[in-house]
Amino acid sequence: LSGKLSGVFDGLSKRGALSVEDVNEAMREIRLAMLDADVALPVVKDFVKKVQEKSVGQEVLHNISPGQAIAKIVNDALIEALGGAGAVPLNLNAVPPIPYLMVGLQGSGKTTTSAKIAYYLNRRERKKVLLASLDTYRPAAQLQLEQLANQVKVTSLPVIEGQMPVQIAKRAMEVARLEGYDVVILDTAGRLSIDEALMEEVQNIRDVAKPAETLLVVDAMTGQDAVHTAKSFNEKVGITGVVMTRMDGDARGGAALSMRAITGAPIKLVGMGEKVDALQEFYPERVASRILGLGDIAGLVEKASETIDQEESERLAKKMLKGKFDLNDYAAQIGQINKMGSISNIMDMMPGMGKMKEKLGDKELDTSILKRHQAIISSMTKAERKQPAIIKASRKKRIASGSGSTVQEVNRLLKQYDQMASMMKRFNKLGVKGLMRQGLS
Ligand code: GDP
Ligand code: MG
Repeated sequence: LSGKLSGVFDGLSKRGALSVEDVNEAMREIRLAMLDADVALPVVKDFVKKVQEKSVGQEVLHNISPGQAIAKIVNDALIEALGGAGAVPLNLNAVPPIPYLMVGLQGSGKTTTSAKIAYYLNRRERKKVLLASLDTYRPAAQLQLEQLANQVKVTSLPVIEGQMPVQIAKRAMEVARLEGYDVVILDTAGRLSIDEALMEEVQNIRDVAKPAETLLVVDAMTGQDAVHTAKSFNEKVGITGVVMTRMDGDARGGAALSMRAITGAPIKLVGMGEKVDALQEFYPERVASRILGLGDIAGLVEKASETIDQEESERLAKKMLKGKFDLNDYAAQIGQINKMGSISNIMDMMPGMGKMKEKLGDKELDTSILKRHQAIISSMTKAERKQPAIIKASRKKRIASGSGSTVQEVNRLLKQYDQMASMMKRFNKLGVKGLMRQGLS
């Protein structure tokens, strides 16, 4: 929550009673926080109105701290509006070959997401997947999907020059039937904005393929105009699920709430980067905190556990939460971070990291710098790694020459480590609730 918002909540808890005015005041701040997170205005209005009604009634029933009560109501309502607890899986309950249709505006991430889903279904669900590009408009589009398919080691439908999208869809389904594919992912062309021709084409493809999933791919950075896109696609084609891409960026994820409210379809997956494994399930709880401005420790832990073994990830999570990790852990993590994606990606999911990221700038988050840090740490003694505070001038000089770096670089590493450690300590002291009240975001 923003500082202003938690300020309002503190004020409420001191007074001990929740009047209509109190609720209204808090709701003004909630409205701002949601607009700031790019939730579409009509959706914000509707949400605020519902919560307003709920809050006043609830206060009469329960005599808990009003600030807590309203924070909980807001959070619960937001989770509910995002689809309730838990993730909704992709539909695999149909007779194979199961067609998935990918729709959305140009550049929203359809082609990338197609490959990510293919990779995911192949690796996790052991499905035989066929990728087919129906984008005959941009010359390089079919090639792009083919290259991505090669990357994830999934078959893509051979391109036949001059074939139209509907014909390609037919051929893809035929090939899939003959060759025993489980899932066929049909990647369609997009336009820069909604137009009749695009809709008609997608409708024709839908009628031919009869998809079990029609996934609307939306860039999380889109704000108010996402409403229009979602509405048209849902009305004209019918959406069974939404994929939010670029959730690795600065977007707070407000578009998720708008999408859900407008289409009624669940957000099924979240794109967390350009790499083919940067796809995650959608967890309403996490996006709710992100919309309200709280980081996402749970998301971090999940991402970690995917690339490293369970034990290591538990150790990592515990140490992070306790603020007890030393330079050994820092070095050990660097290797994992490379596997998991960029460090800024990970920081985005951690409470309090937003500001640190700003301070460091993109350069410091470059993984090549992390590799240098690894080298510097390997030139330290055991004691130095355990207790970085003992590293004074002469030790710094020795470490720098030992690792082929400079004292400045050693300083920078120590500073980064310090910031991380103190951030973690702060998090531990406050806990999640405390963080919400303090408004660290
Ligand atoms: P399409 O026109 O809808 O097929 O979009 P593309 O799949 O070609 O994606 C457009 C650009 O967005 C590409 O450069 C992708 O690498 C990038 N992209 C897609 N998904 C994500 C994501 O989740 N995060 C980030 N950072 N970039 C993405
Ligand atoms: Mg494309």
